[in-house]
Amino acid sequence: MTIHATTTIKELRELLRAKEISPREVADGYLRRCKAYDGKLEAFLELYEPSALEFSHADHAPLYGIPGAIKDNICQKGHKATCASKILENFVAPYDATSVARLKAAGATMLGRANCDEFAMGSSGETSAFQKTKNPWDLTRVPGGSCSGSAAAVAAGLVPWAIGSDTGGSVRQPAALCGVVGSKPTYGLISRYGLIALASSLDTIGVMTRTVYDNAVVVGAMVGADGKDSTALPLQGPYDYTPYLTGKVKPGLKIGVVTNAVHAKGIDAGVKKLLEQAIADYKHLGAQIVELALPTMDYGAAVYFMINRAEAASNLARFDGVRYGYRDKDAETLSDMYEKTRGAGFGREVIRRILTGNYVLSVGHAEQYYASACTVQRMMRAEFVAAFKSVDLLFFPVSPAPAFKIGALDNDPLQMALEDYFTCPINIVKMPAVSVPCGFVDGMPVAFQLVGPDCSEGLIFQTCHAYEQMHDWYKQVPEWVRA
Ligand code: GLN
Repeated sequence: MTIHATTTIKELRELLRAKEISPREVADGYLRRCKAYDGKLEAFLELYEPSALEFSHADHAPLYGIPGAIKDNICQKGHKATCASKILENFVAPYDATSVARLKAAGATMLGRANCDEFAMGSSGETSAFQKTKNPWDLTRVPGGSCSGSAAAVAAGLVPWAIGSDTGGSVRQPAALCGVVGSKPTYGLISRYGLIALASSLDTIGVMTRTVYDNAVVVGAMVGADGKDSTALPLQGPYDYTPYLTGKVKPGLKIGVVTNAVHAKGIDAGVKKLLEQAIADYKHLGAQIVELALPTMDYGAAVYFMINRAEAASNLARFDGVRYGYRDKDAETLSDMYEKTRGAGFGREVIRRILTGNYVLSVGHAEQYYASACTVQRMMRAEFVAAFKSVDLLFFPVSPAPAFKIGALDNDPLQMALEDYFTCPINIVKMPAVSVPCGFVDGMPVAFQLVGPDCSEGLIFQTCHAYEQMHDWYKQVPEWVRA
């Protein structure tokens, strides 16, 4: 059995359990693909050669022998974790993130570190200090971000799963632009211990896979309370979501189509057509479609801008040249060293966010900016909670348009920030969402997302899975990586 671009975790599990293939053969098959295609994609910052020890799990473990990739801002003991930043270029993690430890305990094999935007700040992968990952569907286009490497690697079939962090859309948007499934669970469903923080109150660990089934398996393996993260929900894990995946929607399911999102100005005409087709497909599956507006959603990007920058500036204060990573050697005084280290260690986007973040938190401005953002955040959450009294799930676009050309938004940081317009409101309200491919515009993938109330992952996976069964988007791969 050879590993193909479209091989799924579900298929691998059956082959591994029947001993038709060994975990070593699976890992070698994917490493062969990585070596054949990653030269062009630049999805990985580093590939690992798994040791025999990693294959010693019991064969009934949920991810026994299934290899995957880890975004470069999640700690793996003994491996570098650089956040794609020069300031952490040589930082080696002294421990495993809880997410990584749980995947290992579930039998998974780690194949490498995936490239991302620097400190997960960006929507295109272009802020990485090391390389620009390409979109496998068109190498002149961005894969989305910040989980650029994770998305490109799964889309090209270099790994069957990858994990990343989603603070404002970083799992769902690149998943959408690369044509794979991307999940952002409820805030706290998966421990953040060992995830290098961007904005701690919004950061979630999320998963990319080819199919909804595979996604549910990987998310489930990481669920559970964690004494090392006080914001992790007190849930008993790991969790098996697969019984939800019946291929049908829940009887009486009501989906709210968010009109001010789906009919927003600025959505590409081709994308809009595919969103409308997906809504029609849900009617066909028996769901009741209700149109509703969520007026506060339109403040999501502004609120996200403030909270993200404020928390990023605070979290990144620890990179001072003393405790971690890079240090400028020539400075004569401590403050000079601090300034030079941070000036040379951080890229432009990171510096821009530290400046804005400190500004919105500063005396005289904190009330106007940061505190009002927090007030609007509470209003948004109340509006979403109220919406879930009349519908089960909400239907949103992910990205307003398919992937753009590399470099196209270089001089337009505001337009880049608006890439998150439909994703970041969901982080602001802390609820779960899954994005699912729903077709192609001019050869580039497009997706929608379903959002549910807190801890409704089972229902979201069920509803996404039912849609996925009507199509064969997940079997599509770019021609050049097919072999
Ligand atoms: N594009 C968003 C940003 O730059 C998303 C980041 C994220 O989710 N990590 O802030």
